[in-house]
Amino acid sequence: MKPIQTRTLGYPRIGANRELKKAVEAYWAGTISQDELAETAAQLRSKHWKQQRNAGIDLIPSNDFSFYDHVLDTACLVGALPERIGFGGGNVDLPIYFTAARGVPPAEAAGRIEETAALEMTKWFDTNYHYLVPELQKDQFFRLSSTKPVDEYLQAKTLGIETVPVLLGPISFLLLSKPDGDFDALTLLERLLPVYQSVLAQLKNVGAQSVQLDEPVLALDLTDAQRTAFAPAYSTLAAVAPRIHLTSYFGGLRDNLDTALTLPVASIHCDAVSEPGELNALLEKLPADKTLSLGVVSGRNIWKNDYEKSNALISKAVSKLGAERVLVSSSSSLLHTPVSLEAETGLDDEVKNWLAFADEKLGELAELAKFQRLESAGSDPAWQANAAAAAARRTSPRIHVPTVKTRCAASTPDDAKRQSPFAERIVKQQDALNFPLFPTTTIGSFPQTTEIRQARAKHRKGELGDAEYTQFLKNEIRSVVREQEELGLDCLVHGEPERNDMVEYFGQQLEGYVFSRNGWVQSYGSRCVKPPILFGDVSRPKPMTVDWAVFAQSLTETPMKGMLTGPVTILQWSFVRDDQPRAETMKQIAFAIRDEVNDLEAAGIKVIQIDEPALREGLPLRRTDHAAYLSNAVEAFRISTSGVHDETQIHTHMCYCEFNEVIDSIAALDADVISIEASRSRMELLGAFQDFNYPNQIGPGVWDIHSPRVPSAEEMVELLQKAAQAIPAERLWVNPDCGLKTRAWPETRAALTNMVAAAKQLRA
Ligand code: GLN
Ligand code: ZN
Repeated sequence: MKPIQTRTLGYPRIGANRELKKAVEAYWAGTISQDELAETAAQLRSKHWKQQRNAGIDLIPSNDFSFYDHVLDTACLVGALPERIGFGGGNVDLPIYFTAARGVPPAEAAGRIEETAALEMTKWFDTNYHYLVPELQKDQFFRLSSTKPVDEYLQAKTLGIETVPVLLGPISFLLLSKPDGDFDALTLLERLLPVYQSVLAQLKNVGAQSVQLDEPVLALDLTDAQRTAFAPAYSTLAAVAPRIHLTSYFGGLRDNLDTALTLPVASIHCDAVSEPGELNALLEKLPADKTLSLGVVSGRNIWKNDYEKSNALISKAVSKLGAERVLVSSSSSLLHTPVSLEAETGLDDEVKNWLAFADEKLGELAELAKFQRLESAGSDPAWQANAAAAAARRTSPRIHVPTVKTRCAASTPDDAKRQSPFAERIVKQQDALNFPLFPTTTIGSFPQTTEIRQARAKHRKGELGDAEYTQFLKNEIRSVVREQEELGLDCLVHGEPERNDMVEYFGQQLEGYVFSRNGWVQSYGSRCVKPPILFGDVSRPKPMTVDWAVFAQSLTETPMKGMLTGPVTILQWSFVRDDQPRAETMKQIAFAIRDEVNDLEAAGIKVIQIDEPALREGLPLRRTDHAAYLSNAVEAFRISTSGVHDETQIHTHMCYCEFNEVIDSIAALDADVISIEASRSRMELLGAFQDFNYPNQIGPGVWDIHSPRVPSAEEMVELLQKAAQAIPAERLWVNPDCGLKTRAWPETRAALTNMVAAAKQLRA
């Protein structure tokens, strides 16, 4: 009998020390050449393949590397770049590639070449990775325009490593693209397939034994037309391709399962981490000519695998199919996990023993395969060590805090309900706060100057003492308050100079969190994020923001907004524990934030903003799962905000958000005021609020803070007049789209001056 084989669906590209990020950015800055960049990339790929081979992975992917993004790579592969990028045929070269990724900003273009907009970017399924959205024309012409998959396969082969080239499948490619015009992207499938055939034939020609075709759209709700596109397309491809491993991940195949099962492919992947229940259906229905790729090691989280659980799934599959028809796999690409625990010298051994980053996951895959060859896996030392770690996690008092669990269990609907309805609250709030019509405010942060960043870095390194740092921040707050008073804003903020990140700042002060030193994951292009690790029951040992808010309020008579991040966003932007439902963890965070909100109120803060920019992006992939998520999210937000008196005004803020599908949940949050990003859509987003008859107050952004451009007062008046057609004027606020931390002071002053002028003009 052939031993059971292991595979990964992809490995992090960025490098253990973010070598790729640094090289790419150095290339952009002109400090290294294209050849030097290519050399670094080749070294990283080689290192990553060897890492996987040495760990005992049998099916090692290639072409999972990318200089920026694999969806952009696919667009380049098939020669589908919009005209403005300036691709003139032949193969896409690196300068063109990066133009598509980043555009040519006006400053850089400076008359030499035309300023060019990059492709749009959007979230990759429900991860925090962002891909570039290919733009397709109705009469789109496709042509093989890159040798990347073949080159990388051959590079590995030269090293003596046989790899499985990974391609984003043609149907996912089309469905993830944006048709430029009113047509269905799938109408382009027939034109696209010959290009896929060429690259697959080339791969076969140079010796590739199998390829991995990713069709993650199979984890989404598809129409019948979309589903029926698969069979003919895959027959066309299978005719010329090496063996095809079909992979979909981040969710179950569910109603797309039968579609996948009928395709002429060698294996079907099951993401048994996100949908373990699907294994039964697969085992029952898998045709005899197919292998099952069983994704039991999560490509999304950072927790040590539970061998007992995974082994049970694998054994079940093996006893039905035989070991030769089962692949032990990561659930998805490991792209979404940090590279290695090795650098985590700052984590204590207890917590570290609960974790596994990408490299540790390779070892897990190999061990899980090994257990299948052993008479008794249970007596293996690796098994025992894993069982001990799992047992410790189940019982550790660092994770399980009875007071936190009891409080959540004892919560009642009243915890999620303000004392009176909005109509009554707003009258009392108006009495206390006395805001004019069209009140002006900002979203929270003010420019994070080099000075602020340097002071924070020095403080972190211990070069700046606590007292000096506090003094520095106080001075900063003083000057931000003075600026706002001079501008004449109606509701002030302290400017958030003490925060570098809206989740990390709270994570650092909550129980239940740890922070990695080097746990970076790619967010987009060269940008990485280091999500905090939420490992245990969450509580708030002491106030987190009250001193700053009180200090800021002491400097002015004008109302000062307290500024917090909401439970949904804190959850969404962290690595979340997998040993209890996400909703349970969210509720714990909600109670911790509630304590902070109540303390702010008790300290005399009358306006409190709880940011929830991630509320919309937390939506599950499948529509049937939306309602449960939204109801939990709404409840969590309301738990955070409902401990205050009617007189206290609760604000929330959301950006990058389409509201249509979720407007009833947004309304159910029952925030007194919501500020949203609206300027880029020229107030179109307000349509959803208008149609819904949204009852509370709204601040639609009138300044696109993503650009240094300063909008004139007239422009803002115009936007607000448009807004007033959708929402009664007495319910409108005037504010920018989002926080100002990435802006510089000159444009900030100028734009806010115009904003205040616009509000005054409207009042008159
Ligand atoms: N209060 C935060 C800020 O102003 C909000 C950031 C966000 O919405 N992403 O920076
Ligand atoms: Zn925002």
